[in-house]
Amino acid sequence: MLSAWPDDRRAHRVGGPVSPQAQGPAPYTLILGCHRPGPAVRRDHRAGTGSCPRSSSRRGSPRSRGRSWVTDLAGQPLAARTWSLAIDDGPEVVLTSVTRAARELIREAGRTEAELIGVGVGLPGPVEHSTGRPTNPPIMPGWDGYDVPSRLARHFPVPVLVDNDVNVMALGEHAVAFGAEEHLIFVKVATGIGSGIISGGRLHRGAQGAAGDLGHIQAPHGAGIACRCGNTGCLEAVASGSALAKALRKLGIAAESSQDVVALVRAGNLEATRLLRQAGRDIGDVLAMCVSLLNPSVIVVGGSLADAGETLLAGVREAVYRRSLPLATEHLRIVASQAREGAGVMGSALMVIQQVLSPQGLDILLADIRG
Ligand SMILES: [Zn+2]
Repeated sequence: MLSAWPDDRRAHRVGGPVSPQAQGPAPYTLILGCHRPGPAVRRDHRAGTGSCPRSSSRRGSPRSRGRSWVTDLAGQPLAARTWSLAIDDGPEVVLTSVTRAARELIREAGRTEAELIGVGVGLPGPVEHSTGRPTNPPIMPGWDGYDVPSRLARHFPVPVLVDNDVNVMALGEHAVAFGAEEHLIFVKVATGIGSGIISGGRLHRGAQGAAGDLGHIQAPHGAGIACRCGNTGCLEAVASGSALAKALRKLGIAAESSQDVVALVRAGNLEATRLLRQAGRDIGDVLAMCVSLLNPSVIVVGGSLADAGETLLAGVREAVYRRSLPLATEHLRIVASQAREGAGVMGSALMVIQQVLSPQGLDILLADIRG
């Protein structure tokens, strides 16, 4: 369990200090996110080393980044906090630390819990949106079927909305940069691979919230390669940041993470550049099927591997335009994320605000006021 926060990870207020007395009461949302685990981090508790010496998680488990924000009703961050956690510690441990961090953030932002109107949560796995319960998440042991909204509502008695992290990024990207587009696919390429689908201007979640799980579609060149979901040949197993880092290590080149791959590409490493371009083609091969099924007008590529610049995008474009029918690609744009790191928080805030301001949400709010 996280019981202390290093000084350099204290919350920071976005836009400078604000006096709560001068500002007066104002509704806000609380956004909680958990980024996908990177490579395993060796931690030695006895020696007091590692990024999170007080965590109870087992030694060597993958590290994730917990993030929380306070936003206004336009989805603009007012304060933020980032810390290290292990998602495989399970929901009780993780949500206890998340709750503590959120309370400290609210206090440091100069807000009261009475002004909070809703909580939005993005998790790195499939989520049944109607219940907020993760559904067989491959990298979140212990979370399957866990009632995340009820757990958080014990501490924050407001609507709690939970979704897959890439779905909320798609919502945010659409709102920030592509509001005029009715049909958009947002692809996140980082430690894992996932996508969020905007269809008819709305997020398409599918029957159980599993729509867009791009990373576990069979890749044309993935035969026999084991994936962490238990299958073989998944796109994520051949084209994600962790897959590329593994391929580089086999060539004798030191790389542990997506960020290492990006750094090598930026430094002009030919093997890293070749592998990233091929990853783009592999992703494009799978996206070409999505283009035939969904006919999007724009595909947005985000995530840490997209930070390498045009190399990944060039591979994606090459495969999509080669494999798709001309009518489907006549006006199709394939572009880099515009919202970047802000996509997730904006999308989560929108998810909460749309629910709270819906006719059903307003009925509940008015009943509370009258009650
Ligand atoms: Zn898989």
